[in-house]
Amino acid sequence: MKEPNLTDYAKLYQQFDWQYVRSQLAGLPNGKGLNIAHEAVDRHASGDLRNKVALRFHRKKENVEDYTYGDLKTQTSKFANLLHGLKLKEGDRVFSLLGRVPDLYIAALGSLKFKAVFCPLFSVFGPEPIFQRLSKGDAKVLVTNTSFYEKKIKGLLNRLPSLDFILLTDSSDDLDMKALSLTKLMEEASGEFIIPSTDPEDPALLHFTSGTTGMPKGALHVHQAVLTHFATGKYVLDFQKGDIFWCTADPGWVTGTSYGIISPLVNGVTSIIDEEEFDALRWYSILEKQKVNVWYTAPTAIRRLMRMEIVPKEKYDLSNLRLVLSVGEPLHPGAVSWGQKAFGVPVLDNWWQTETGGIMIANYRSMEVKPGSMGKPLPGIIAAIADVEEAEIKIYDQPENQGHLVLKKGFPSLFRGYLHEEERYKKCFKGNWYISGDLAKIDKDGYFWFIGRADDIIKTSGHMVGPFEVESTLMKHPAVVEAAVIGKPEPSIGELVKAFVVLKEGFEPTDDMRQELIGFARKTMGPAVAPKEISFIESLPKTKSGKILRRLLKARELGLPEGDLSTLEKG
Ligand code: ATP
Ligand code: MG
Repeated sequence: MKEPNLTDYAKLYQQFDWQYVRSQLAGLPNGKGLNIAHEAVDRHASGDLRNKVALRFHRKKENVEDYTYGDLKTQTSKFANLLHGLKLKEGDRVFSLLGRVPDLYIAALGSLKFKAVFCPLFSVFGPEPIFQRLSKGDAKVLVTNTSFYEKKIKGLLNRLPSLDFILLTDSSDDLDMKALSLTKLMEEASGEFIIPSTDPEDPALLHFTSGTTGMPKGALHVHQAVLTHFATGKYVLDFQKGDIFWCTADPGWVTGTSYGIISPLVNGVTSIIDEEEFDALRWYSILEKQKVNVWYTAPTAIRRLMRMEIVPKEKYDLSNLRLVLSVGEPLHPGAVSWGQKAFGVPVLDNWWQTETGGIMIANYRSMEVKPGSMGKPLPGIIAAIADVEEAEIKIYDQPENQGHLVLKKGFPSLFRGYLHEEERYKKCFKGNWYISGDLAKIDKDGYFWFIGRADDIIKTSGHMVGPFEVESTLMKHPAVVEAAVIGKPEPSIGELVKAFVVLKEGFEPTDDMRQELIGFARKTMGPAVAPKEISFIESLPKTKSGKILRRLLKARELGLPEGDLSTLEKG
Protein backbone atom coordinates (compact mmCIF):
# COMPACT_ATOMS: atom_id res chain seq x y z
CA MET A 1 0.00 0.00 0.00
CA LYS A 2 1.20 3.51 -0.82
CA GLU A 3 2.74 5.66 1.93
CA PRO A 4 0.32 8.24 3.28
CA ASN A 5 0.92 11.88 2.25
CA LEU A 6 1.04 12.75 5.92
CA THR A 7 3.49 10.48 7.70
CA ASP A 8 4.44 12.51 10.74
CA TYR A 9 1.57 14.59 12.08
CA ALA A 10 3.54 16.49 14.74
CA LYS A 11 6.26 17.44 12.31
CA LEU A 12 3.91 18.63 9.60
CA TYR A 13 1.81 20.55 12.09
CA GLN A 14 4.87 22.41 13.23
CA GLN A 15 6.24 23.14 9.78
CA PHE A 16 2.98 23.88 8.03
CA ASP A 17 2.64 27.09 6.13
CA TRP A 18 -0.34 28.23 4.03
CA GLN A 19 2.07 30.06 1.71
CA TYR A 20 3.60 26.72 0.84
CA VAL A 21 0.14 25.32 0.02
CA ARG A 22 -0.48 28.37 -2.15
CA SER A 23 2.79 27.72 -3.97
CA GLN A 24 1.61 24.22 -4.90
CA LEU A 25 -1.40 25.65 -6.69
CA ALA A 26 -1.05 27.23 -10.11
CA GLY A 27 -2.74 30.60 -9.71
CA LEU A 28 -4.29 32.28 -12.73
CA PRO A 29 -1.91 32.87 -15.64
CA ASN A 30 -0.06 36.21 -15.64
CA GLY A 31 -0.44 36.67 -11.91
CA LYS A 32 -4.16 37.34 -12.18
CA GLY A 33 -5.02 35.85 -8.79
CA LEU A 34 -6.56 32.63 -7.57
CA ASN A 35 -9.76 31.08 -8.87
CA ILE A 36 -11.22 27.78 -7.67
CA ALA A 37 -12.30 26.69 -11.15
CA HIS A 38 -8.85 27.24 -12.58
CA GLU A 39 -7.29 25.10 -9.87
CA ALA A 40 -9.97 22.42 -10.16
CA VAL A 41 -10.31 22.20 -13.91
CA ASP A 42 -8.42 24.43 -16.33
CA ARG A 43 -4.90 23.88 -15.08
CA HIS A 44 -5.33 20.10 -15.29
CA ALA A 45 -7.02 20.33 -18.68
CA SER A 46 -4.00 22.11 -20.08
CA GLY A 47 -1.61 19.56 -18.62
CA ASP A 48 -1.10 15.81 -18.30
CA LEU A 49 -4.55 15.15 -16.91
CA ARG A 50 -6.42 16.44 -19.96
CA ASN A 51 -7.82 13.02 -20.89
CA LYS A 52 -8.18 11.66 -17.40
CA VAL A 53 -11.69 11.08 -16.06
CA ALA A 54 -12.50 13.90 -13.63
CA LEU A 55 -16.13 13.04 -12.86
CA ARG A 56 -17.80 9.68 -13.35
CA PHE A 57 -21.56 9.81 -12.94
CA HIS A 58 -23.58 6.76 -12.01
CA ARG A 59 -26.90 7.72 -13.52
CA LYS A 60 -30.19 6.37 -12.20
CA LYS A 61 -30.46 3.84 -14.97
CA GLU A 62 -27.19 2.12 -14.12
CA ASN A 63 -25.38 3.79 -17.02
CA VAL A 64 -22.13 5.58 -16.42
CA GLU A 65 -21.25 8.97 -17.88
CA ASP A 66 -17.67 10.21 -17.84
CA TYR A 67 -16.25 13.73 -18.07
CA THR A 68 -12.53 14.15 -18.52
CA TYR A 69 -10.74 17.23 -17.24
CA GLY A 70 -10.66 18.40 -20.89
CA ASP A 71 -14.43 17.91 -21.29
CA LEU A 72 -15.05 19.77 -18.05
CA LYS A 73 -12.96 22.69 -19.19
CA THR A 74 -14.98 23.07 -22.38
CA GLN A 75 -18.36 22.62 -20.70
CA THR A 76 -17.65 24.99 -17.82
CA SER A 77 -16.28 27.58 -20.25
CA LYS A 78 -19.52 27.35 -22.20
CA PHE A 79 -21.47 27.90 -19.03
CA ALA A 80 -19.34 30.92 -18.07
CA ASN A 81 -19.79 32.36 -21.56
CA LEU A 82 -23.54 31.96 -21.44
CA LEU A 83 -23.67 33.84 -18.13
CA HIS A 84 -21.78 36.60 -19.88
CA GLY A 85 -24.33 36.51 -22.70
CA LEU A 86 -27.11 36.90 -20.15
CA LYS A 87 -25.39 40.07 -18.93
CA LEU A 88 -24.67 38.76 -15.47
CA LYS A 89 -22.17 40.67 -13.38
CA GLU A 90 -19.37 39.30 -11.22
CA GLY A 91 -20.69 38.54 -7.73
CA ASP A 92 -24.24 37.86 -8.97
CA ARG A 93 -25.70 34.69 -7.49
CA VAL A 94 -26.39 31.58 -9.50
CA PHE A 95 -28.42 28.86 -7.79
CA SER A 96 -29.09 25.28 -8.80
CA LEU A 97 -31.96 22.99 -7.98
CA LEU A 98 -30.93 19.67 -9.47
CA GLY A 99 -30.15 16.10 -8.53
CA ARG A 100 -26.56 14.91 -8.74
CA VAL A 101 -26.41 15.25 -12.53
CA PRO A 102 -23.62 16.62 -14.74
CA ASP A 103 -25.39 19.97 -15.31
CA LEU A 104 -25.10 20.77 -11.61
CA TYR A 105 -21.34 20.26 -11.55
CA ILE A 106 -20.86 22.18 -14.80
CA ALA A 107 -22.98 25.07 -13.51
CA ALA A 108 -21.03 25.17 -10.23
CA LEU A 109 -17.60 25.30 -11.85
CA GLY A 110 -18.79 27.49 -14.75
CA SER A 111 -20.19 30.02 -12.28
CA LEU A 112 -16.91 30.08 -10.38
CA LYS A 113 -15.07 30.69 -13.66
CA PHE A 114 -17.32 33.62 -14.44
CA LYS A 115 -16.92 34.80 -10.82
CA ALA A 116 -20.59 34.52 -10.05
CA VAL A 117 -21.36 33.22 -6.55
CA PHE A 118 -22.75 29.71 -6.72
CA CYS A 119 -25.32 28.24 -4.33
CA PRO A 120 -26.55 24.65 -4.78
CA LEU A 121 -29.90 23.70 -3.25
CA PHE A 122 -31.09 20.20 -2.33
CA SER A 123 -33.47 19.08 -5.07
CA VAL A 124 -35.79 17.53 -2.48
CA PHE A 125 -36.71 20.95 -1.04
CA GLY A 126 -40.31 21.96 -1.48
CA PRO A 127 -41.37 25.41 -2.80
CA GLU A 128 -41.23 27.31 0.51
CA PRO A 129 -37.66 26.44 1.55
CA ILE A 130 -36.61 27.10 -2.04
CA PHE A 131 -38.29 30.49 -1.91
CA GLN A 132 -36.64 31.39 1.40
CA ARG A 133 -33.18 30.61 0.07
CA LEU A 134 -33.59 32.18 -3.38
CA SER A 135 -34.93 35.38 -1.91
CA LYS A 136 -32.48 35.58 1.00
CA GLY A 137 -29.65 34.81 -1.44
CA ASP A 138 -30.80 37.41 -4.04
CA ALA A 139 -30.70 34.79 -6.78
CA LYS A 140 -30.31 36.12 -10.32
CA VAL A 141 -30.19 32.79 -12.12
CA LEU A 142 -31.56 29.38 -11.22
CA VAL A 143 -30.48 26.23 -13.05
CA THR A 144 -33.10 23.49 -12.82
CA ASN A 145 -35.16 21.07 -14.89
CA THR A 146 -38.63 21.42 -16.37
CA SER A 147 -40.31 19.20 -13.84
CA PHE A 148 -38.97 21.13 -10.82
CA TYR A 149 -39.74 24.37 -12.63
CA GLU A 150 -43.37 23.44 -13.16
CA LYS A 151 -43.90 21.92 -9.72
CA LYS A 152 -41.82 24.08 -7.43
CA ILE A 153 -40.72 27.33 -9.05
CA LYS A 154 -43.44 28.71 -11.30
CA GLY A 155 -45.72 29.58 -8.40
CA LEU A 156 -42.96 31.55 -6.68
CA LEU A 157 -41.94 33.80 -9.54
CA ASN A 158 -44.08 36.80 -8.66
CA ARG A 159 -42.42 36.84 -5.22
CA LEU A 160 -38.92 36.71 -6.72
CA PRO A 161 -38.59 39.92 -8.73
CA SER A 162 -34.78 39.79 -8.93
CA LEU A 163 -34.64 36.27 -10.34
CA ASP A 164 -33.89 37.14 -13.97
CA PHE A 165 -33.44 33.73 -15.57
CA ILE A 166 -34.31 30.10 -15.06
CA LEU A 167 -32.13 27.82 -17.15
CA LEU A 168 -33.81 24.52 -17.97
CA THR A 169 -31.49 21.58 -18.43
CA ASP A 170 -33.95 19.41 -20.33
CA SER A 171 -35.90 21.78 -22.55
CA SER A 172 -34.84 22.19 -26.17
CA ASP A 173 -36.73 25.50 -26.45
CA ASP A 174 -37.16 28.60 -24.34
CA LEU A 175 -40.51 28.63 -22.56
CA ASP A 176 -40.68 32.41 -22.35
CA MET A 177 -38.38 35.42 -21.85
CA LYS A 178 -37.28 34.17 -18.44
CA ALA A 179 -37.32 30.39 -18.62
CA LEU A 180 -34.66 29.54 -21.17
CA SER A 181 -33.31 26.34 -22.66
CA LEU A 182 -29.92 25.61 -21.13
CA THR A 183 -29.26 23.01 -23.83
CA LYS A 184 -29.63 25.64 -26.53
CA LEU A 185 -27.54 28.21 -24.71
CA MET A 186 -24.79 25.65 -24.14
CA GLU A 187 -24.81 24.64 -27.82
CA GLU A 188 -24.46 28.24 -28.92
CA ALA A 189 -21.80 29.24 -26.38
CA SER A 190 -18.09 29.14 -27.11
CA GLY A 191 -15.99 26.52 -25.31
CA GLU A 192 -13.17 29.00 -24.73
CA PHE A 193 -13.27 31.31 -21.75
CA ILE A 194 -10.53 33.31 -20.11
CA ILE A 195 -11.09 33.53 -16.37
CA PRO A 196 -11.03 37.18 -15.26
CA SER A 197 -8.65 38.39 -12.55
CA THR A 198 -9.78 36.88 -9.26
CA ASP A 199 -8.78 38.24 -5.92
CA PRO A 200 -8.38 35.40 -3.40
CA GLU A 201 -10.91 37.29 -1.28
CA ASP A 202 -13.54 37.45 -4.04
CA PRO A 203 -16.76 35.68 -3.06
CA ALA A 204 -17.25 32.25 -4.58
CA LEU A 205 -19.81 30.11 -2.79
CA LEU A 206 -22.89 30.50 -0.69
CA HIS A 207 -23.97 27.59 1.49
CA PHE A 208 -26.95 27.30 3.75
CA THR A 209 -26.32 25.45 7.01
CA SER A 210 -28.21 22.23 7.78
CA GLY A 211 -30.79 23.89 10.04
CA THR A 212 -30.11 21.44 12.87
CA THR A 213 -30.37 24.09 15.57
CA GLY A 214 -32.74 26.54 13.91
CA MET A 215 -33.30 28.56 10.76
CA PRO A 216 -30.56 27.79 8.23
CA LYS A 217 -27.93 30.52 7.84
CA GLY A 218 -26.30 31.51 4.55
CA ALA A 219 -22.52 31.26 4.91
CA LEU A 220 -20.38 33.06 2.32
CA HIS A 221 -17.03 31.70 1.17
CA VAL A 222 -14.23 33.13 -0.96
CA HIS A 223 -12.00 31.76 -3.70
CA GLN A 224 -8.99 31.16 -1.47
CA ALA A 225 -11.00 28.51 0.40
CA VAL A 226 -9.47 26.31 -2.28
CA LEU A 227 -6.28 26.20 -0.21
CA THR A 228 -8.15 24.27 2.47
CA HIS A 229 -9.84 22.05 -0.12
CA PHE A 230 -6.44 21.22 -1.56
CA ALA A 231 -4.62 20.70 1.75
CA THR A 232 -7.34 18.55 3.31
CA GLY A 233 -7.57 16.49 0.12
CA LYS A 234 -3.88 15.82 0.41
CA TYR A 235 -3.52 15.22 4.14
CA VAL A 236 -6.90 13.96 5.35
CA LEU A 237 -8.40 12.25 2.30
CA ASP A 238 -4.84 11.25 1.41
CA PHE A 239 -5.40 11.66 -2.35
CA GLN A 240 -2.73 9.96 -4.40
CA LYS A 241 -2.09 9.88 -8.10
CA GLY A 242 -4.65 7.72 -9.89
CA ASP A 243 -7.06 7.54 -6.96
CA ILE A 244 -10.77 6.92 -7.32
CA PHE A 245 -12.71 8.87 -4.73
CA TRP A 246 -16.35 8.80 -3.77
CA CYS A 247 -18.08 11.37 -1.58
CA THR A 248 -21.70 10.36 -1.04
CA ALA A 249 -22.94 13.82 0.00
CA ASP A 250 -25.22 15.97 -2.12
CA PRO A 251 -23.80 19.39 -3.10
CA GLY A 252 -26.85 20.91 -1.37
CA TRP A 253 -24.86 20.27 1.79
CA VAL A 254 -21.41 21.86 2.03
CA THR A 255 -19.67 18.45 2.11
CA GLY A 256 -21.06 17.65 -1.33
CA THR A 257 -19.49 20.81 -2.77
CA SER A 258 -16.19 21.09 -0.90
CA TYR A 259 -15.50 17.35 -1.21
CA GLY A 260 -18.01 16.19 -3.85
CA ILE A 261 -16.78 18.76 -6.37
CA ILE A 262 -13.77 20.89 -5.48
CA SER A 263 -11.24 18.96 -3.39
CA PRO A 264 -10.88 15.84 -5.58
CA LEU A 265 -10.63 17.92 -8.76
CA VAL A 266 -8.07 20.30 -7.30
CA ASN A 267 -6.05 17.21 -6.40
CA GLY A 268 -6.45 15.76 -9.89
CA VAL A 269 -8.17 12.49 -8.94
CA THR A 270 -11.29 10.82 -10.35
CA SER A 271 -14.50 11.42 -8.47
CA ILE A 272 -17.54 9.13 -8.49
CA ILE A 273 -21.01 10.67 -8.25
CA ASP A 274 -24.10 8.56 -7.68
CA GLU A 275 -27.41 10.06 -8.71
CA GLU A 276 -29.38 7.65 -6.53
CA GLU A 277 -30.12 7.96 -2.84
CA PHE A 278 -28.81 5.56 -0.17
CA ASP A 279 -29.06 1.89 -1.11
CA ALA A 280 -26.67 -0.39 0.74
CA LEU A 281 -26.20 -3.01 -1.94
CA ARG A 282 -25.89 -0.48 -4.74
CA TRP A 283 -23.30 1.37 -2.66
CA TYR A 284 -21.26 -1.73 -1.98
CA SER A 285 -21.34 -2.68 -5.61
CA ILE A 286 -20.18 0.82 -6.66
CA LEU A 287 -17.30 0.56 -4.18
CA GLU A 288 -16.35 -2.75 -5.76
CA LYS A 289 -16.95 -2.02 -9.43
CA GLN A 290 -15.36 1.40 -9.43
CA LYS A 291 -12.43 0.18 -7.34
CA VAL A 292 -12.91 3.09 -4.97
CA ASN A 293 -9.80 3.94 -2.95
CA VAL A 294 -11.11 6.68 -0.69
CA TRP A 295 -14.69 6.87 0.51
CA TYR A 296 -16.22 9.82 2.35
CA THR A 297 -19.63 9.40 3.93
CA ALA A 298 -21.66 10.24 7.03
CA PRO A 299 -22.53 8.59 10.37
CA THR A 300 -26.19 8.25 9.41
CA ALA A 301 -25.23 6.08 6.41
CA ILE A 302 -22.75 4.08 8.47
CA ARG A 303 -25.40 3.37 11.11
CA ARG A 304 -27.72 2.12 8.38
CA LEU A 305 -25.05 -0.17 6.99
CA MET A 306 -24.24 -1.46 10.46
CA ARG A 307 -27.85 -2.49 10.91
CA MET A 308 -27.52 -5.04 8.12
CA GLU A 309 -26.15 -8.51 8.52
CA ILE A 310 -23.72 -8.18 5.62
CA VAL A 311 -19.99 -7.96 6.17
CA PRO A 312 -19.20 -6.16 2.89
CA LYS A 313 -15.58 -7.23 2.83
CA GLU A 314 -16.67 -10.88 2.61
CA LYS A 315 -19.21 -10.39 -0.18
CA TYR A 316 -17.49 -7.75 -2.28
CA ASP A 317 -13.97 -7.19 -3.48
CA LEU A 318 -13.07 -4.05 -1.56
CA SER A 319 -9.35 -4.59 -1.79
CA ASN A 320 -8.81 -1.13 -3.31
CA LEU A 321 -10.38 0.66 -0.38
CA ARG A 322 -7.69 2.48 1.57
CA LEU A 323 -9.67 4.96 3.59
CA VAL A 324 -13.23 5.38 4.85
CA LEU A 325 -14.07 8.76 6.36
CA SER A 326 -17.08 10.24 8.05
CA VAL A 327 -18.38 13.71 8.85
CA GLY A 328 -21.52 15.49 9.92
CA GLU A 329 -22.32 14.10 13.33
CA PRO A 330 -20.40 12.39 16.07
CA LEU A 331 -19.26 8.94 15.08
CA HIS A 332 -19.78 6.57 17.95
CA PRO A 333 -16.81 4.33 18.83
CA GLY A 334 -18.65 1.19 17.72
CA ALA A 335 -18.76 2.51 14.16
CA VAL A 336 -15.00 2.97 14.05
CA SER A 337 -14.31 -0.64 14.94
CA TRP A 338 -17.18 -1.89 12.78
CA GLY A 339 -15.34 -0.30 9.85
CA GLN A 340 -12.32 -2.42 10.61
CA LYS A 341 -14.41 -5.58 10.44
CA ALA A 342 -16.59 -4.51 7.53
CA PHE A 343 -14.05 -2.85 5.26
CA GLY A 344 -10.70 -3.84 6.70
CA VAL A 345 -9.99 -0.21 7.64
CA PRO A 346 -11.31 1.86 10.55
CA VAL A 347 -13.80 4.62 9.81
CA LEU A 348 -11.94 7.91 10.31
CA ASP A 349 -14.03 10.65 11.87
CA ASN A 350 -13.49 14.30 11.08
CA TRP A 351 -15.13 17.51 12.18
CA TRP A 352 -16.02 20.70 10.39
CA GLN A 353 -18.94 22.97 9.62
CA THR A 354 -20.54 24.91 6.79
CA GLU A 355 -18.85 27.96 8.31
CA THR A 356 -15.34 26.48 8.17
CA GLY A 357 -15.63 25.50 4.49
CA GLY A 358 -13.42 22.44 4.89
CA ILE A 359 -12.19 19.78 7.32
CA MET A 360 -10.71 21.27 10.50
CA ILE A 361 -10.16 18.38 12.91
CA ALA A 362 -9.43 14.90 11.67
CA ASN A 363 -8.13 11.43 12.16
CA TYR A 364 -5.29 10.72 9.77
CA ARG A 365 -4.29 7.48 8.16
CA SER A 366 -0.88 7.52 9.79
CA MET A 367 -2.05 8.50 13.29
CA GLU A 368 -3.31 6.13 15.93
CA VAL A 369 -7.12 6.26 16.08
CA LYS A 370 -8.88 6.64 19.40
CA PRO A 371 -12.42 5.50 18.63
CA GLY A 372 -14.93 8.25 19.52
CA SER A 373 -12.42 11.07 19.08
CA MET A 374 -12.57 13.56 16.20
CA GLY A 375 -8.79 13.48 15.98
CA LYS A 376 -6.43 16.45 15.84
CA PRO A 377 -6.50 19.84 14.08
CA LEU A 378 -5.48 20.04 10.46
CA PRO A 379 -1.95 21.41 10.09
CA GLY A 380 -2.48 25.15 9.59
CA ILE A 381 -5.46 25.23 11.94
CA ILE A 382 -5.21 26.31 15.56
CA ALA A 383 -8.06 24.83 17.54
CA ALA A 384 -8.63 25.18 21.27
CA ILE A 385 -11.14 24.81 24.06
CA ALA A 386 -12.28 28.03 25.68
CA ASP A 387 -14.59 29.69 28.12
CA VAL A 388 -16.42 32.30 26.05
CA GLU A 389 -18.89 33.56 28.63
CA GLU A 390 -16.86 36.55 29.86
CA ALA A 391 -15.99 39.72 27.90
CA GLU A 392 -12.54 38.27 27.16
CA ILE A 393 -12.18 34.78 25.80
CA LYS A 394 -10.27 32.42 28.08
CA ILE A 395 -8.37 29.64 26.35
CA TYR A 396 -7.82 26.58 28.53
CA ASP A 397 -4.21 25.52 28.55
CA GLN A 398 -4.74 22.27 30.44
CA PRO A 399 -6.24 19.11 28.96
CA GLU A 400 -9.59 17.60 29.92
CA ASN A 401 -11.40 20.93 30.33
CA GLN A 402 -14.83 20.94 28.71
CA GLY A 403 -15.71 24.13 26.86
CA HIS A 404 -16.37 25.81 23.55
CA LEU A 405 -14.48 24.55 20.55
CA VAL A 406 -12.86 27.64 19.00
CA LEU A 407 -10.64 28.17 15.97
CA LYS A 408 -8.08 30.90 15.51
CA LYS A 409 -9.16 33.27 12.73
CA GLY A 410 -7.15 33.71 9.59
CA PHE A 411 -7.36 30.37 7.78
CA PRO A 412 -8.43 30.58 4.13
CA SER A 413 -11.78 28.77 4.17
CA LEU A 414 -13.40 30.46 7.17
CA PHE A 415 -16.73 32.00 6.11
CA ARG A 416 -16.72 35.74 5.49
CA GLY A 417 -20.28 36.44 6.56
CA TYR A 418 -23.80 35.19 7.20
CA LEU A 419 -25.87 36.65 4.42
CA HIS A 420 -27.98 39.56 5.68
CA GLU A 421 -27.16 38.67 9.30
CA GLU A 422 -24.24 40.91 10.19
CA GLU A 423 -24.94 40.89 13.94
CA ARG A 424 -25.13 37.14 14.13
CA TYR A 425 -21.86 36.89 12.23
CA LYS A 426 -20.16 39.27 14.64
CA LYS A 427 -21.35 37.25 17.61
CA CYS A 428 -19.41 34.24 16.31
CA PHE A 429 -16.12 35.94 17.08
CA LYS A 430 -14.33 36.96 20.23
CA GLY A 431 -10.82 38.41 20.03
CA ASN A 432 -8.89 36.38 17.48
CA TRP A 433 -11.15 33.38 17.74
CA TYR A 434 -14.13 31.96 15.88
CA ILE A 435 -16.61 30.30 18.26
CA SER A 436 -17.97 27.17 16.60
CA GLY A 437 -21.05 26.66 18.78
CA ASP A 438 -19.89 23.12 19.64
CA LEU A 439 -18.52 21.93 22.97
CA ALA A 440 -15.54 19.62 23.19
CA LYS A 441 -12.48 18.72 25.20
CA ILE A 442 -8.86 17.87 24.45
CA ASP A 443 -7.19 14.89 26.09
CA LYS A 444 -3.62 14.74 27.32
CA ASP A 445 -2.44 13.44 23.95
CA GLY A 446 -4.00 16.35 22.05
CA TYR A 447 -7.01 14.42 20.68
CA PHE A 448 -10.30 16.32 20.46
CA TRP A 449 -13.51 14.80 21.82
CA PHE A 450 -16.92 16.11 20.82
CA ILE A 451 -19.34 16.74 23.66
CA GLY A 452 -22.30 18.30 21.96
CA ARG A 453 -23.69 21.40 20.40
CA ALA A 454 -23.89 24.22 22.93
CA ASP A 455 -27.66 24.30 22.23
CA ASP A 456 -28.08 20.60 22.99
CA ILE A 457 -26.15 20.39 26.26
CA ILE A 458 -28.24 19.12 29.16
CA LYS A 459 -27.87 20.57 32.62
CA THR A 460 -28.97 17.97 35.13
CA SER A 461 -28.38 18.00 38.92
CA GLY A 462 -25.37 20.25 38.51
CA HIS A 463 -23.83 18.11 35.73
CA MET A 464 -23.34 19.11 32.11
CA VAL A 465 -24.29 16.16 29.94
CA GLY A 466 -23.59 15.96 26.22
CA PRO A 467 -26.16 13.92 24.31
CA PHE A 468 -23.46 12.13 22.33
CA GLU A 469 -22.03 10.43 25.42
CA VAL A 470 -25.41 9.03 26.43
CA GLU A 471 -26.35 8.07 22.88
CA SER A 472 -23.06 6.24 22.36
CA THR A 473 -23.62 4.28 25.56
CA LEU A 474 -27.14 3.26 24.60
CA MET A 475 -25.91 2.18 21.19
CA LYS A 476 -23.58 -0.31 22.81
CA HIS A 477 -26.65 -2.29 23.85
CA PRO A 478 -27.39 -5.02 21.29
CA ALA A 479 -31.07 -4.02 20.99
CA VAL A 480 -30.38 -0.39 20.03
CA VAL A 481 -29.95 0.89 16.50
CA GLU A 482 -30.05 4.62 17.08
CA ALA A 483 -30.69 6.95 19.97
CA ALA A 484 -31.21 10.67 20.49
CA VAL A 485 -31.04 12.35 23.85
CA ILE A 486 -32.58 15.64 25.00
CA GLY A 487 -32.93 17.61 28.24
CA LYS A 488 -36.48 17.89 29.53
CA PRO A 489 -37.15 20.65 32.07
CA GLU A 490 -37.64 19.19 35.55
CA PRO A 491 -37.72 21.78 38.36
CA SER A 492 -35.99 19.69 41.05
CA ILE A 493 -32.90 18.86 38.94
CA GLY A 494 -32.89 21.48 36.16
CA GLU A 495 -33.27 19.10 33.26
CA LEU A 496 -33.93 15.41 33.08
CA VAL A 497 -32.07 13.24 30.55
CA LYS A 498 -34.58 11.73 28.15
CA ALA A 499 -33.68 9.29 25.38
CA PHE A 500 -35.52 8.36 22.20
CA VAL A 501 -34.51 4.93 21.07
CA VAL A 502 -34.91 3.02 17.81
CA LEU A 503 -34.83 -0.73 18.44
CA LYS A 504 -33.33 -3.38 16.19
CA GLU A 505 -35.73 -5.68 14.39
CA GLY A 506 -36.82 -8.51 16.64
CA PHE A 507 -36.72 -6.47 19.89
CA GLU A 508 -39.98 -5.36 21.50
CA PRO A 509 -40.58 -1.86 22.89
CA THR A 510 -41.78 -3.10 26.26
CA ASP A 511 -41.49 -1.75 29.80
CA ASP A 512 -38.96 -4.47 30.54
CA MET A 513 -36.83 -3.30 27.66
CA ARG A 514 -37.08 0.26 28.93
CA GLN A 515 -35.92 -0.79 32.39
CA GLU A 516 -33.16 -2.89 30.94
CA LEU A 517 -31.80 0.03 28.90
CA ILE A 518 -32.00 2.44 31.83
CA GLY A 519 -30.19 -0.11 33.98
CA PHE A 520 -27.59 -0.69 31.28
CA ALA A 521 -26.89 3.04 30.99
CA ARG A 522 -26.79 3.52 34.78
CA LYS A 523 -24.26 0.78 35.13
CA THR A 524 -22.04 2.24 32.44
CA MET A 525 -22.41 5.95 33.05
CA GLY A 526 -23.69 6.35 36.58
CA PRO A 527 -27.18 7.36 37.64
CA ALA A 528 -26.61 11.13 37.36
CA VAL A 529 -25.94 11.00 33.64
CA ALA A 530 -27.98 7.96 32.50
CA PRO A 531 -31.40 8.67 31.00
CA LYS A 532 -34.29 8.73 33.41
CA GLU A 533 -36.90 8.42 30.69
CA ILE A 534 -36.87 6.42 27.47
CA SER A 535 -39.37 6.56 24.61
CA PHE A 536 -39.28 4.07 21.78
CA ILE A 537 -39.63 5.57 18.34
CA GLU A 538 -39.81 4.08 14.81
CA SER A 539 -37.19 6.42 13.38
CA LEU A 540 -35.48 9.64 14.43
CA PRO A 541 -36.26 12.93 12.70
CA LYS A 542 -33.26 14.06 10.66
CA THR A 543 -32.13 16.88 8.40
CA LYS A 544 -31.69 16.24 4.71
CA SER A 545 -27.96 15.99 5.35
CA GLY A 546 -28.69 13.16 7.79
CA LYS A 547 -28.34 14.85 11.19
CA ILE A 548 -30.55 14.02 14.13
CA LEU A 549 -32.94 16.92 14.85
CA ARG A 550 -32.91 16.90 18.66
CA ARG A 551 -34.59 20.30 18.78
CA LEU A 552 -37.63 18.79 17.02
CA LEU A 553 -37.83 15.86 19.45
CA LYS A 554 -37.64 18.37 22.27
CA ALA A 555 -40.30 20.68 20.83
CA ARG A 556 -42.63 17.72 20.31
CA GLU A 557 -41.95 16.38 23.79
CA LEU A 558 -42.73 19.75 25.36
CA GLY A 559 -45.61 20.64 23.05
CA LEU A 560 -43.76 23.70 21.75
CA PRO A 561 -43.78 25.11 18.19
CA GLU A 562 -41.72 22.90 15.89
CA GLY A 563 -39.71 25.78 14.36
CA ASP A 564 -38.20 25.75 10.88
CA LEU A 565 -38.69 22.34 9.26
CA SER A 566 -37.42 23.20 5.80
CA THR A 567 -34.51 20.81 6.11
CA LEU A 568 -36.45 17.92 7.65
CA GLU A 569 -35.87 14.68 5.75
CA LYS A 570 -39.15 13.13 4.69
CA GLY A 571 -39.98 9.49 4.30
P1 ATP B 1 -27.27 24.72 11.82
O1 ATP B 1 -25.99 25.48 11.97
O2 ATP B 1 -28.19 25.32 10.82
O3 ATP B 1 -27.93 24.39 13.11
P2 ATP B 1 -25.61 22.40 11.34
O4 ATP B 1 -24.71 23.01 12.36
O5 ATP B 1 -25.99 20.98 11.49
O6 ATP B 1 -26.92 23.29 11.18
P3 ATP B 1 -23.60 22.00 9.35
O7 ATP B 1 -22.70 23.14 9.12
O8 ATP B 1 -23.97 21.13 8.19
O9 ATP B 1 -24.96 22.57 9.92
O10 ATP B 1 -23.01 21.04 10.44
C1 ATP B 1 -21.93 21.35 11.28
C2 ATP B 1 -22.14 20.74 12.62
O11 ATP B 1 -22.27 19.32 12.53
C3 ATP B 1 -21.02 20.94 13.58
O12 ATP B 1 -21.04 22.22 14.19
C4 ATP B 1 -21.22 19.80 14.57
O13 ATP B 1 -22.20 20.12 15.53
C5 ATP B 1 -21.73 18.69 13.67
N1 ATP B 1 -20.60 17.83 13.27
C6 ATP B 1 -19.98 17.77 12.08
N2 ATP B 1 -19.00 16.84 12.07
C7 ATP B 1 -18.99 16.30 13.29
C8 ATP B 1 -18.19 15.28 13.93
N3 ATP B 1 -17.24 14.62 13.29
N4 ATP B 1 -18.47 15.00 15.23
C9 ATP B 1 -19.44 15.66 15.90
N5 ATP B 1 -20.20 16.61 15.35
C10 ATP B 1 -20.00 16.93 14.08
MG1 MG C 1 -24.17 24.96 12.74
